[in-house]
Amino acid sequence: MSLPTPRPDLAALEGYHSPQLTVDVRLNTNESPFPPPPEFVDAWLRDLAASPLHRYPDRGATELRAGIAAHLGQPVERIFAANGSNEVLQTLLLTYGGPGRSALVFEPTYALHSHICRITGTGVLTGERTSDFRISPTEAAMLIRAERPAVVFVCSPNNPTGTVEARATLEAVLGAVIDSGHGLLVVDEAYGEFADFSALELVTDDVPLVVSRTYSKVWSLAALRLGFCVAPPAVVEELEKVVLPYHLSTATQTAGVAALAFRDEMDARVHTLVSERHRLAESLARLPGLTVYPSGANFVLVRPDGDGHALWQRLVDRGVLVRDFSRWPRLDDCLRITVGTAEENDRCIAALRETLET
Ligand code: PMP
Repeated sequence: MSLPTPRPDLAALEGYHSPQLTVDVRLNTNESPFPPPPEFVDAWLRDLAASPLHRYPDRGATELRAGIAAHLGQPVERIFAANGSNEVLQTLLLTYGGPGRSALVFEPTYALHSHICRITGTGVLTGERTSDFRISPTEAAMLIRAERPAVVFVCSPNNPTGTVEARATLEAVLGAVIDSGHGLLVVDEAYGEFADFSALELVTDDVPLVVSRTYSKVWSLAALRLGFCVAPPAVVEELEKVVLPYHLSTATQTAGVAALAFRDEMDARVHTLVSERHRLAESLARLPGLTVYPSGANFVLVRPDGDGHALWQRLVDRGVLVRDFSRWPRLDDCLRITVGTAEENDRCIAALRETLET
């Protein structure tokens, strides 16, 4: 017997690789180091127990979308929610990308942008970031005018570099998308709450701009898979046509609503992680032979003078797992370190000091 072959355009596809190892200190996947507050878990489970589990979930995710809208000071019609921001991005590409269309990414950036393009049959156009990992507004505008991509991705803060794009850059990119006469600018703000600037304030009802966010990081709910975007209502309507009916379970919707009552705790965690990021970055910058890139996220990218992969292994040997980007194009020798608890960060700093100073 022979099994059928998948779509030929998927042949070159590689799965998502982020190796997990059993170590004491896991600083490799940009999750929150803090579990959600126990009071949240109690409130959520009470809501879930009171839900009619024999019925399909609310298709319109009405309460969740209203809650997110109120939290952000946005109209509810601009909110689309899905199973993690990855599903938001996939739905955007299923709706606005697809065969015969292309999306522009600025490398190095979040690998899932081009991966989801390939899954959805969307062509990938690649723009280059500058040596300090910024997007050049003039080069971006030239590319957009020349290639007229259906979707333009800007990841800010950018994973894995931490770079936050300036408002002027986003305005220039958005201006070029508008001038091109078609296309959608998608600003991936999975780490937006950790940065000083958000493109949320640029979203209106008639501008082709979408900003995606997630509950995975600041809300400490990576396990639940909940993300959303803020977009013109006409875009939200199109996304709702494409996404599978009842995709967002009642468990997820109730969690998303219940979490919003813990805003103060969430703000406090963001505050703690941002100050830990500063402390981590400053400590690492004092180590010999290590370049630390500026970050507006819950991680920092570092580049040792020597072999990055060997350094990654020496950290693993000391019980610290970070993300190895050392063999990625444009990221030679780089390692990405997620900001953990103060103790975890201390362990990471000590392990790096030990390996770099000896
Ligand atoms: N965008 C970026 C830039 C990310 O780093 C991640 C998580 N690694 C996501 C989107 C996806 O997040 P989630 O699907 O958990 O919301």
